[in-house]
Amino acid sequence: MILPPFRYLRPQSIGDAVSMLAAIEGAAVLAGGQTLVNAMKLDLVAPTALVDVHRLDELATITASADGSIAIGAAVTYARLAADPVVRQHVPAVASMAAGLVDRQVRNRGTIGGNCCLNDPTSNFPPLLTALDAVFVVAAVGGERRLSAAEFFTGTLTTALCRGEILAAVEIPAVADGTRVVHRHLQVGADSWAMARAVVRLDVREHTVQTARVVLGAVLGSPQRLDGVEAALAGSPAGSELAAVACEAFDRADVQVVDDVHCSAEYRRRMSKVQVRRAVAAAVEAGAS
Ligand SMILES: Cc1cc2nc3c(=O)[nH]c(=O)nc-3n(C[C@H](O)[C@H](O)[C@H](O)COP(=O)(O)OP(=O)(O)OC[C@H]3O[C@@H](n4cnc5c(N)ncnc54)[C@H](O)[C@@H]3O)c2cc1C
Repeated sequence: MILPPFRYLRPQSIGDAVSMLAAIEGAAVLAGGQTLVNAMKLDLVAPTALVDVHRLDELATITASADGSIAIGAAVTYARLAADPVVRQHVPAVASMAAGLVDRQVRNRGTIGGNCCLNDPTSNFPPLLTALDAVFVVAAVGGERRLSAAEFFTGTLTTALCRGEILAAVEIPAVADGTRVVHRHLQVGADSWAMARAVVRLDVREHTVQTARVVLGAVLGSPQRLDGVEAALAGSPAGSELAAVACEAFDRADVQVVDDVHCSAEYRRRMSKVQVRRAVAAAVEAGAS
């Protein structure tokens, strides 16, 4: 449990942070530390230096644009996401997901950027941000690049970030009136990891689904979009039959799932389908009032 020696650095800006990361071999970003410090204690990782971005003002902003999109700084904590009026108004699904995350300590320290950069298959935010078509803004000494979720999340515990880069912000495009975003999951215990997670976004106009996003989490290394289910939902009436349409398409889809200590692949596949069904039904219900 005793941490190995490391340098502790407090950058004053994003520019400082990326310069430190580029210059110091083996340096890592420290955000909420809820995973990184535990991994260090368990001797799973041993960074030579920690570049602490948790109190970096530039990474702690939440900004709404006139077009309805919002930009969330990577160091914004779950507790703040849950309470922030801009997030609650523009993307209530982000606020509700943050509010339901684990316990108060993790919510007060853990950050949306740390959650995404870790890209644990069971992490809450990667599938949700995939369904929201979020853009990941990556900063480096030479400038920034902007990646889609499919580009950013590259596999189990890995992302497209290279040495010297940090995730600066996540931009979420405007969510139109008539769009419903619902997430559902099944977890091992009361405050433990998800075995199956589904996020469903329905863009509904005149009682018909225009476009859909159906994304699974906790099944593979990265979020998995179910293109066949999305195609089946698009053009369908947003009524009580929609969940059955999703389930039939799910059965035809090539859904990739892993087998692990928590459950078999077959159980995980079935539970993923249950989460999709529940999320679609809830999204339909959300438009009924
Ligand atoms: C008891 C417990 C239960 C948990 N259960 C869940 C759960 O159910 N769902 C869930 O999603 N999470 C869960 N977590 C994990 C928690 O959400 C972590 O906070 C999160 O995964 C990491 O966020 P962090 O801000 O603490 O990042 P850190 O632990 O500080 O960093 C995590 C990784 O991301 C890198 N990093 C962080 N920020 C940046 C950045 N801006 N740019 C580049 N790299 C960066 C770090 O270098 C490190 O590799 C749990 C944690 C605990 C302790």
